[in-house]
Amino acid sequence: MPFTIDLAKKCIVITGGNRGIGYAFSRAVAQAGANIAVIYRSSKDAEEVTEKLAKEFGVKAKAYKCDVSDPDLVNRTFQQIDSEMGPITGLIANAGVSVPKPAFDLSYEDFRTVYDVNVFGVFNTARAAAKLWSEKQFKGGSIVITSSMSSQIINQSGLNESLAQVFYNSSKAAVSNLTKGLAAEWTKYDIRVNALSPGYVKTDQTSRMDKKIRDFQASAIPLGRFAEPHEMAGQAILLLSEHSSYMTGGEYFIDGGQLIW
Ligand code: NDP
Repeated sequence: MPFTIDLAKKCIVITGGNRGIGYAFSRAVAQAGANIAVIYRSSKDAEEVTEKLAKEFGVKAKAYKCDVSDPDLVNRTFQQIDSEMGPITGLIANAGVSVPKPAFDLSYEDFRTVYDVNVFGVFNTARAAAKLWSEKQFKGGSIVITSSMSSQIINQSGLNESLAQVFYNSSKAAVSNLTKGLAAEWTKYDIRVNALSPGYVKTDQTSRMDKKIRDFQASAIPLGRFAEPHEMAGQAILLLSEHSSYMTGGEYFIDGGQLIW
């Protein structure tokens, strides 16, 4: 088997694929030849983003507005994607939100905001894809879940409020565990489920951090810098391809070496 990764004939759903890390996934997947369905929540330019990718890479690319925290809407949207763009062969469950606040200020609403998207949203989309595949007896579906290095380590949140995110961090630990559970349950359908866990990446989420804190955090990373979004894409492409046919239930850290210390 030659070591090129070709995703032609695949159709990949990417939640939050219109910006940030998700956009880097969309771009790389389209470049590898797959049709892409990008799920977004409210951005105004998602359709423009997918039209550009379709033109640039000669694939089908379409944006679908869908709140991943609504399970019925997610099921309907996956049915629609499957008939318009499909059959769906893979999913990157990437949409995520954070509410950076000190623990004393957090409310149950904040908890719902974070967990409804980061945990329930991942579950809803993964299950919608798996249901479609099991009903059609499609084998070889791959689900990649964007977790975070914060599933394992907590940043220096005592330093600055922009780093205080106990709900976000614990939601990522939950989603990393959910990855293993779904992977175990769905081996019988030949569906693989893996997590990709970024360290700090330059996106809207991290641009809200105070510059002094950002520089300090970067100095604590062995590679000495935050990642560019496109540096996350290679692992996602691998996990969506047949080259990773023996990988399931794994969590892959792309963190500039941060877990070394
Ligand atoms: P961004 O804040 O740049 O983008 C978030 C994306 O998620 C947007 O496309 C947004 O859509 C979409 N989204 C949010 N809520 C919903 C919802 N309810 N339904 C559908 N789509 C939704 O995020 P990043 O690119 O920074 O992060 C992407 C993923 O990577 C997240 O899971 C995040 O937790 C994780 N991560 C990020 C790190 C970083 O340093 N940036 C580090 C580790 C993990 P819309 O544009 O319409 O609002």
